[in-house]
Amino acid sequence: MTEEFSAGGIVFRKGLDSGENQNDVFILVSQHSGHHGWVFPKGHVADTIPNETEQEAAVREVQEETGITGTILEPLSLVDYWYVFRGEKRHKTVQYFLMAYESGNTEDHGWEMENVVWLLISEVEKKLTYKSDKKVWEEAKKKLLQKIK
Ligand code: ATP
Repeated sequence: MTEEFSAGGIVFRKGLDSGENQNDVFILVSQHSGHHGWVFPKGHVADTIPNETEQEAAVREVQEETGITGTILEPLSLVDYWYVFRGEKRHKTVQYFLMAYESGNTEDHGWEMENVVWLLISEVEKKLTYKSDKKVWEEAKKKLLQKIK
């Protein structure tokens, strides 16, 4: 059995001038190029960068996978799940952080994601593929609504 650890972000931004309502809040959601599930961006911690922190990995992975740079506001509860890779059972734990949009454009997303979109808060739950992501999204939504009210 292999244990894996990843970090990622639930990134939000307010509406822009360009035709969006400035009171609307949008969340960054992506479709994985491999398994095609709709997820939040994330990836392995300290896989290629020695001593990389969870926070550094989360910001890097969000940037690489979606083209978006975010600023970390706070950590969310750990997500964990099991899957099978080439006949081997793997357990993955994921630390997501609530992040505020800083810069970047989803058109510059990486190959790991086949689609990267900004969704209204009300559209996120039904778009997400996995139960564990829906659960951490519930927590992120509550924290986000507290921050922006
Ligand atoms: P990472 O982004 O951590 O580098 P990865 O992109 O290689 O990892 P995962 O997204 O973890 O891979 O997907 C590995 C397997 O786990 C796939 O079969 C996928 O369908 C499944 N999976 C992904 N996210 C979840 C989840 N939240 N709950 C259950 N299964 C998941």
